[in-house]
Amino acid sequence: MATRENLRNIAIIAHVDHGKTTLVDELLKQSGTFRANEVVDERVMDSNDIERERGITILSKTTSVMYGDTKINIVDTPGHADFGGEVERILQMVDGVLLVVDAFEGCMPQTRFVLKKALGLKKKPLVVVNKIDREGSRPEEVVDEVLDLFIELGADEDQIEFPVVYASAKGGYASLDPHNKGTDMQPLFKEIVEEIPAPEGDPDGGLQILISNIDYDDYVGRIGVGRVERGTVKNGQGAVLCGIDGTRQNVRIQKLYQYEGLKRVETETATYGDLICVSGINSINIGETLCSYDCVEPLPFVKIDEPTVTMNF
Ligand code: GDP
Repeated sequence: MATRENLRNIAIIAHVDHGKTTLVDELLKQSGTFRANEVVDERVMDSNDIERERGITILSKTTSVMYGDTKINIVDTPGHADFGGEVERILQMVDGVLLVVDAFEGCMPQTRFVLKKALGLKKKPLVVVNKIDREGSRPEEVVDEVLDLFIELGADEDQIEFPVVYASAKGGYASLDPHNKGTDMQPLFKEIVEEIPAPEGDPDGGLQILISNIDYDDYVGRIGVGRVERGTVKNGQGAVLCGIDGTRQNVRIQKLYQYEGLKRVETETATYGDLICVSGINSINIGETLCSYDCVEPLPFVKIDEPTVTMNF
C-alpha cells in the first residue's frame, strides 16, 4: 500500500443557504488554482441552469483547489433529497466530509440527512461553523448542537472528536478559535490537509476505476465520473468495462480527465485516489468498474434506489 500525501478528496455537506457555494468560491479564490488574470465571476456550484433558476444544488459537481503542493478535490452533495442514491455514490469517492453549519441557525434537517450517511460510511468529518460574522451568531452553542447530532446519529469515537473551523465564507476568513476571527482561509486549508486522510492504494495493482456518476458534454458526449481505486490509468488505453449485471465489454478510454479548478482538463495518466472522468465509452453506467485486461475484478457498489424523498419545487 502507498499513500497519496499530496491529494485529498472531500465531499461538502450543508443545509441549503448555509454557505457551501460561497465557501468553495472563496477556497478557489484563495488557492493557487487561478492565474492572476482569471476572475471567478460565476458562482462555482450553481452553474447548472435548473439550479440557477431554483437557487439550489441538484447535480453534484467537483471543484479542485490547490493548497501548496496538495490538490484538494471538493465534491458537492445534494443536501435536500436523495436523487437515486446519489449521496452514497458521491460519498464512495471521498475520504472525508466538510460539514458546513450556519453559526446562527445551527443544525437543520438537510444537514442531518447527508451527515447520517457519511457517518454510516465511516467518513472522517471536519466541521465548518460558517457565518460567524452574522449578527447574533452563536458558534459555540452550534458546536454543541453538532456534537449532539453526531451522538444521535451514532458517530464512532473517532468521528465524535471532529475538528472545528470557525469561518466567514463571505468575509473570506477562517480560524480555529471562536474568539479570534482569522484573516484568510489558510486555517481551513490546513485542517483539511491535516485531518482528512490521504488516499491509500496500490499504484502497480490491476486497474480498478469505480464509476460513481455520469455526465454529458456537447463535444465528447457521455462521460463517466469516478475514482481510481487501484492501479494507474493512461489516456487512450483499452480496458474491460464490468457491468453490475456481470457483463464484460472491451472498451477504449478515448479521453481521460482530471479536475482543475472549475474545469475538467485532459490528462495523460492518473493513479489510485485520483477523481477522474473518462469519455469515449458510450455504454458506461453508474456502478460499473473499469479494469485492466489482465485483472478483471469489479468493485462492489452501493445499490441505487428510487429517490427516498420527493420534493415539490
Ligand atoms: P448554499 O446554498 O449552501 O450554497 O449557500 P450560499 O453559498 O449560496 O449562501 C447562501 C447565502 O448566505 C448567500 O446570500 C451568501 O451570501 C450568504 N453567506 C454565505 N456565507 C456567509 C457568511 O460567512 N456570512 C454571511 N453573513 N453570509 C454568508
